[in-house]
Amino acid sequence: MRLISVVRGVSLRPRAIIVAALIVISALSVSADPIAIPTPTEQAVQYHNFSNLVWGINQILALLLLPLSMLVLGTRTRIAAKLRSGKYFTFVILAIILFTLNRLVQLPLDRLRTSSLNQIRNEIDLPILQWISSQFMQALPAIVVSVSAALLAYWLINRSPVKWWIWASGVFSGLLLVFLVVEPFTISHKPLGQSPAEVRLSEFAAKIGIPTTAIVSEDCEPFSSCEIAHVSGLGPTRLILLNKGLFDAYPESWARQSFAHESKHYLNDDNLVGWIVLTVISLVFLFLVDRLSRVTIRRFPERLGFTSIAQPAALPLLVLVLNVIYLTALPPINIFRQHVEFAADRHGLELTSQNHVLAEMVSSWTTESKYRVPGPSRFFMIFRSSHPSDAERITYANEFGLKDKKE
Ligand SMILES: [Zn+2]
Repeated sequence: MRLISVVRGVSLRPRAIIVAALIVISALSVSADPIAIPTPTEQAVQYHNFSNLVWGINQILALLLLPLSMLVLGTRTRIAAKLRSGKYFTFVILAIILFTLNRLVQLPLDRLRTSSLNQIRNEIDLPILQWISSQFMQALPAIVVSVSAALLAYWLINRSPVKWWIWASGVFSGLLLVFLVVEPFTISHKPLGQSPAEVRLSEFAAKIGIPTTAIVSEDCEPFSSCEIAHVSGLGPTRLILLNKGLFDAYPESWARQSFAHESKHYLNDDNLVGWIVLTVISLVFLFLVDRLSRVTIRRFPERLGFTSIAQPAALPLLVLVLNVIYLTALPPINIFRQHVEFAADRHGLELTSQNHVLAEMVSSWTTESKYRVPGPSRFFMIFRSSHPSDAERITYANEFGLKDKKE
């Protein structure tokens, strides 16, 4: 913290002194004691391992139990018989059952995981029925979206059996684009204020070509209800949103470092990049779903009880294939996302040269949390993490200037 006040103190002196001071400070901050990676509590490590286990088992349950049991139990008899009453009606009923069961089958382990989290937080579990109904209400939007998406895909399969996957990924891509462009308008925020810290941040932003109007303060009550900082929107609608409490609860240097990280996402328009990547991914995924499902039906027509993906009974097979592809693709997708986040950290450090600030911030996330683990397991990093681990980010920040000097 002492070094930060030195930076503030010299900010009004002539440029030569500022440059000289910054060089000294930058050297000081590099040689200052590195920030230690905090040690997580035993409870946090136990919870981390347990939540990974729950996640893994729930994926397997959703993957295997559900579609397979539907394939075996449902197709030949009751559902096939109902085909005559209208295939779209049958399809919607089947989709509602499938996506509701998909959530239900994950509830028992999720209950155990929530209980162990509540223990760590010293919070009381909701009564079981109340908890189930709250979980159902939370899952309802996802179920409605899944059923609607499946219905649209099914309609396209029937209208264009050969090219349906191209149309479906086109619709997905279009809807995603609209969502990304419109999202900032759905988040409660206001322009940056006029406090000295906020004015200094605006000036800092102007130097790297980001207009003040693109930086806003997000209404977050309580503080932890939203991210510390993030970029929302795409192209002309993109905004850097800083948590309103960031300026009140933390040193100014933390707001500046958070902004410097987000400025990379803003300048790169990472949401646009994400949209392009997801469009390509959806095209490849749906193509594979089409081909792999057809191959499976050709190989096991008797066992499956249906002969085409245009039949309602094929839905569980399509979901199964899609889930397998999704899980297979998670590791490279997460590695890509972590790479993007590392690039933002590097950009932030290049702008501020305050590597100790980034290391302190990331370190505080673990020390302030009762269940955060700075060095998660490899499984978590590959399947579940969009960001580099806290330990990696602290080490990277500690060594950032040193590496530069060696090169
Ligand atoms: Zn980021």
